[in-house]
Amino acid sequence: RLTVEELKSWVRVTAARIAERADELTELDAAIGDADHGANMRRGMAAVVKAIDAANGVDGAPALTTIDALLKKTGMTLVSSVGGASGPLYGSFFMRMGASQAGATELGATELSDAFDAGVAGIVARGKARAGEKTMLDAWYPALEALRAQGDDLVAATAAAASAAAEGREATKPMIATKGRASYLGERSQGHIDPGAASTAIILGALADVVA
Ligand code: ADP
Ligand code: MG
Ligand code: MG
Repeated sequence: RLTVEELKSWVRVTAARIAERADELTELDAAIGDADHGANMRRGMAAVVKAIDAANGVDGAPALTTIDALLKKTGMTLVSSVGGASGPLYGSFFMRMGASQAGATELGATELSDAFDAGVAGIVARGKARAGEKTMLDAWYPALEALRAQGDDLVAATAAAASAAAEGREATKPMIATKGRASYLGERSQGHIDPGAASTAIILGALADVVA
């Protein structure tokens, strides 16, 4: 089962990978957006790590000891530190994911699926996009399906979710964007991977590696 400490590792590994790959994310956004997705995500995730470290600090006082507390802090920090669309979208994701597990300190594969479903519902509530509109949802939806299909085995489930998200990221390439900034390009958005789908694949790849 996934503990709060493992979820913290997930957030930290995500922050490190986003930082490593920020230029790549920004390049994707340069093609169909405003060339800031890497910088947005790097700034946001760095702020999250800082907030988690600060909350863990003084006198060994317990802080962020539940999944809800950790993910609420994560989401709220993203909302307040990321200027672009991705801040409120990922912010809603983490806040809803946490709220769906109020009080819990561990997640099995089923609870993880439920929590991701809730998080993705938050992205939809915020951004009103659907599958096939060339957004981060096109990485999330196949990942949710893969996670659910693996049943009880967390290692297999998170690995399957990560590879489904990576396939989902690639599948955004031929899509025409109809939400977000890329939609301003209309058909000219075709032939480029969506940056948010790429960051989602990083987030899920980090989870699979933390669980493995
Ligand atoms: P901005 O577009 O404001 O500069 P970012 O570049 O950080 O923000 O994030 C862009 C990403 O956000 C897109 O690649 C896409 O995946 C995602 N996105 C944009 N609008 C939506 C939406 N309505 N629903 C879901 N995801 C969206
Ligand atoms: Mg952008
Ligand atoms: Mg922007």
